[in-house]
Amino acid sequence: MTIASNLKAIQSSLASKVTLVAVSKTKPNTAILEAYNAGQRIFGENKVQELARKAEELPKDIAWHMIGHLQTNKVKIIAPFVSLIHAVDSLKLLNEINKRAEHNNRIINCLLQVHIATESSKFGFGIEEVESALNQAKEFKNIKIIGLMGMATFTDDTQQISQEFKNLKTVFNIIQNDHITNLSMGMSGDYNLAIEQGSTMIRVGSAIFGQRNK
Ligand SMILES: *Cc1c(COP(=O)(O)O)cnc(C)c1O
Repeated sequence: MTIASNLKAIQSSLASKVTLVAVSKTKPNTAILEAYNAGQRIFGENKVQELARKAEELPKDIAWHMIGHLQTNKVKIIAPFVSLIHAVDSLKLLNEINKRAEHNNRIINCLLQVHIATESSKFGFGIEEVESALNQAKEFKNIKIIGLMGMATFTDDTQQISQEFKNLKTVFNIIQNDHITNLSMGMSGDYNLAIEQGSTMIRVGSAIFGQRNK
């Protein structure tokens, strides 16, 4: 299967309200261009330097999403161009994004990452912290929080994965409004389960580009 045919197969299975973020981390520009030439315009990366380099080298109409954990000291590198930051997991990070957005005279779209997995290694706000974080975020004039993001536990137990996505959807339902419309959940292995539970944005890497070797 080629990148273009993988992409078409996934794209055609999605309802129009689900946005596909093609996760191109570790993949070369040639692979990204193959997806680009098949019509894909939204790409996700999880490392700041790699993201900045690809944004520099590749077509300017690509919307770049930062999907990985973001350190405050690296925000400035992507602030001039990033289209959406998925994994905002602290007020300290929001504060820094706001500062850098203001410096670049722009408003940066963000998703709050919510911790839904049982693994302690996954970052994010607790489900019970989301509303208070949203309230505190209102003071940041150069940030727009447009939704939530979450990652399920890495397990074969599909019931558990579905339950975790459902828990995130429940919080999303409570805070959803005219501006908060995006629910980023689901990757190659679990995006169908995520969509069943109400995902509006899936982040798919290996099912498009093939396995990564790192
Ligand atoms: C790598 C990554 C993905 C995509 O993973 P695949 O299993 O290759 O689809 C999605 N979300 C995040 C946060 C990632 O780091």
